[in-house]
Amino acid sequence: MTSSPFPSKRAPLYADVPDEKWFNWRWQLSNRINTVEEFEKVIHLTESERKALSATHLFRVDITPYFISLIDPDDPDDPIRKQVVPTDAELTPFTAMMEDSLAEDRHSPVPGLVHRYPDRVLMLVTTQCASYCRYCTRSRIVGDPSATFSRAEFEMQLEYLKRTPQVRDVLLSGGDPLVLAPKILEEILSRLREIPHIEIVRIGSRVPVFLPMRITDELCDMLQKYHPLWMNIHVNHPNEISAELEQACDRLTRAGIPLGNQAVLLAGVNDNVHIQRDLVQKLVRIRVRPYYLYQCDLVAGAGHFRTPVAKGLEIMEGLRGHTSGYAVHQYIIDAPGGGGKIPVMPNYLLSMSDHKVVLRNYEGYITTYEEPIDYLPSHAAKFKGQKRPEPGQSGVLGLLEGEQMFIKPEGFDQVHDRSGIEHRLKDPKKWVPLGIGAGEEPETPSQT
Ligand SMILES: *Cc1c(COP(=O)(O)O)cnc(C)c1O
Repeated sequence: MTSSPFPSKRAPLYADVPDEKWFNWRWQLSNRINTVEEFEKVIHLTESERKALSATHLFRVDITPYFISLIDPDDPDDPIRKQVVPTDAELTPFTAMMEDSLAEDRHSPVPGLVHRYPDRVLMLVTTQCASYCRYCTRSRIVGDPSATFSRAEFEMQLEYLKRTPQVRDVLLSGGDPLVLAPKILEEILSRLREIPHIEIVRIGSRVPVFLPMRITDELCDMLQKYHPLWMNIHVNHPNEISAELEQACDRLTRAGIPLGNQAVLLAGVNDNVHIQRDLVQKLVRIRVRPYYLYQCDLVAGAGHFRTPVAKGLEIMEGLRGHTSGYAVHQYIIDAPGGGGKIPVMPNYLLSMSDHKVVLRNYEGYITTYEEPIDYLPSHAAKFKGQKRPEPGQSGVLGLLEGEQMFIKPEGFDQVHDRSGIEHRLKDPKKWVPLGIGAGEEPETPSQT
């Protein structure tokens, strides 16, 4: 680890801990910090932090000795500290805050399995993490051992997956799947692999960041038996990129696991274009592809971490074009109420006419792209073999493909009926499109 360009730190409290312990993930987990007394030995608590730590009903606190060592003990604004040390701002409610802002539990056909999108599911396998992020979107269940998923629920999740052949991608999350007992994790992976229609498995984990010593050769040997396996880690600030994280990522990528990063845009932590650019560039140096940058969810306890959406747009403006495309993540608002992930970005398309679009680049250079006037789209018949989306999930693409002509808000027909009567002018045939026939082959336009 000596050749790493990234730092390796140990708080003075741990100076005398022998390496066999420090680099043992079980030692790290059993020596996590969570009381005022323990904190005081490592960092100088502020009044606000002390107040929060003494509050009842606080979302669980736990920090590994490794991760707390990355904090500057004298800086109350340290970007790592803010992510894991509670302050009394957490106790302040805000308008629009919810317990389950993404309505995950409503989208769960069985406990812990969120089926929001047509071809993939989110599978919650534990409520435990190596350390707890103060802005956790799943704080309603995470950290609470009694809320964790039972063996019976795991079997129900598998049963649902077996009878749902459109699911080709399973995303393991929680909690953090990599804090599970190695045997249990392996059982989950092998049981998923028995289901033939599951093509890829993904793990969402912050263990490489909180507990890099967990990424042992033994773990990597186990994981690589279950390929294709992908992993998203969660780094928010360049200070989290240490020699230890670099080594963990190196092991995972050598085991053939492509790594992505999901960051959350957090006020006072990484809400700055220069910090974000430094973060994404350091991530690609350790072979992690920045995947998503999330707008902070409307979850109770996280109000003080929120930024205006404009801050996210400004950051994206400062990344695209200014640095490698590989380093540019997508900025996402996960729709409150359960609409799923919505990408947002600055406008690059300024105007258009028939056969011409006007675009601007990151420098403000304005250009035109001349479109063809004789374009013929590929014939749809070629794609006949592809699975059709579930009715109701064809979305805006369904409008474009002529499957339907409109998407109406709930209650639209009732409102516009005005409690009127059935009369001679009302014939339902009138509002069925004449030209657009669902599923019909369009005639090949004749070429002239
Ligand atoms: C984020 C998420 C996914 C995965 O989304 P991708 O955009 O494919 O990464 C799947 N299901 C749920 C419920 C999610 O929140």
